[in-house]
Amino acid sequence: MRLVDSHVHLDDGKFDADREAVIERALAAGVERMMAIGTGSGPPDLETAIRLAERYPFMVATIGVHPHDASKATPETFERLRELAGHPKVAAIGEIGLDYHYDFSPRDVQRAVFLKQLEIAAEASKPIVIHTREAWADTVELVGECWHGGGIMHCFTGDSQQAREALDLGFHLAFGGVLTFPKAEAVREAARITPEDRLLVETDCPYLAPVPHRGKRNEPAFVVEVARRLAEVRGSTLDEIAGQTTGNFERLCLRGGAGNGYTG
Ligand SMILES: [Zn+2]
Ligand SMILES: [Zn+2]
Repeated sequence: MRLVDSHVHLDDGKFDADREAVIERALAAGVERMMAIGTGSGPPDLETAIRLAERYPFMVATIGVHPHDASKATPETFERLRELAGHPKVAAIGEIGLDYHYDFSPRDVQRAVFLKQLEIAAEASKPIVIHTREAWADTVELVGECWHGGGIMHCFTGDSQQAREALDLGFHLAFGGVLTFPKAEAVREAARITPEDRLLVETDCPYLAPVPHRGKRNEPAFVVEVARRLAEVRGSTLDEIAGQTTGNFERLCLRGGAGNGYTG
């Protein structure tokens, strides 16, 4: 079995004491690749995931400014993102998007910084990783108008209607720990109707650990639990889900399947 955890925050301080052991457990569990998300603590440090990916051959990186940190972005931030987008280990731009739950940055600033990064992703022909929370309508509208490339709706927790909207926009849906939560029937329905060539799995570790690890620190090895549940939901086998999601990740993020998407 070969699995890809398409969304890890292994730079997080919660892994400082045992990062090597966590990575060893992931490899032992069949996770052959991880995409390290580079948003970290926000600008000016944009290279936190690149540092990890340079150390481990089975890791690729993203770069980007999380919507929480949008107000920390300056013209220098975008200039640096442009330069880093060409780094051989950078597979995607993200996680970028809109978060109206916390509103850590003003919404108009979040939208402007999101748009700017769509532009950078298009210039670099990289796919995007979207974080959206309580901002679905604005996210769909903005992406619908300005982006026609590939990308990932990370930690997809919408229903089947929202899944269709994201799929119509050309996105892959990455399912994580929430898929395993007892009350998440709507998310499982979304996972059921997603075409097999648009499916991805992720942990978003250290957050959102799947059942039976719920409430604990999440880690990439636990992506197996997500894939197992996804297989159950889709009447498929774990091996089939692993093959599909790994193939999808490779096409989208490693072989330039994203095209050049910005039309804003
Ligand atoms: Zn996120
Ligand atoms: Zn994340």
